Amino acid sequence: MDARTRELYDRLTRVQERLRLACRRSGGDPAAVTLVAVTKEVGVDDLRRVLGLGVRDIGENRAQEMVRKYEVVGDEARWHFIGHLQTNKVKYVVDKTRLIHSLDRPSLAEELQRRAERRGLVVQALIQVNTSGEESKFGLPPEEVPEFREWLKRCRNIRVRGLMTMAPFFDDPEETRPIFRRTKELFDRLRADDEGFDLLSMGMTNDFEVAVEEGANIVRIGRAIFGERDDPGEVVP
Ligand SMILES: *Cc1c(COP(=O)(O)O)cnc(C)c1O
Repeated sequence: MDARTRELYDRLTRVQERLRLACRRSGGDPAAVTLVAVTKEVGVDDLRRVLGLGVRDIGENRAQEMVRKYEVVGDEARWHFIGHLQTNKVKYVVDKTRLIHSLDRPSLAEELQRRAERRGLVVQALIQVNTSGEESKFGLPPEEVPEFREWLKRCRNIRVRGLMTMAPFFDDPEETRPIFRRTKELFDRLRADDEGFDLLSMGMTNDFEVAVEEGANIVRIGRAIFGERDDPGEVVP
């Protein structure tokens, strides 16, 4: 094991331990929480290293970057598309992603439906909710989610599996708790009449413990595993 692999192993182990403790506090089952390792801006070498360490779920937020890495490791990873998805990029990711976390508008759903149907696929997706109301974030306001979800029933090649949300950055992660709690309440309401609506993706490096305490069963973690990025923010090319 090279020094970098050892470092990633240590970081990953720490994250998994923190996840386990957060699950214990909430009475949840750690095995029921999926850790998605977010490899945006992370090189292919580190991607291979975490795959070698047994991580399978990999998150990317840009289509081109995901495709580039897909060409190297293929289906060795289960790919999660977690960023804003431009309609003209759907064709590149539709047949490669395990789960699209960022379904947030009818035009995107229509393109997903069209491309999935053409390829004979059923795409799994989460509706992205902007629970915090923060303007810079993508996602639907919570009050529009039930109607969108009903509308999505016409898209026979899209299976809506749950919700995704992002909290704004706070120095104190406790401040994210009401956002995650409200998202979980919405999730529970929507889930009541659909057992297949079972995935709640929330929590990142800053706030994943709070998210899991509030009921997340998918967390998306980048920096706690790979270290800081030189983050230029979400640049939409
Ligand atoms: C970058 C990103 C993450 C991971 O963020 P970290 O702070 O690196 O853990 C999670 N979700 C989305 C949508 C992201 O863009």
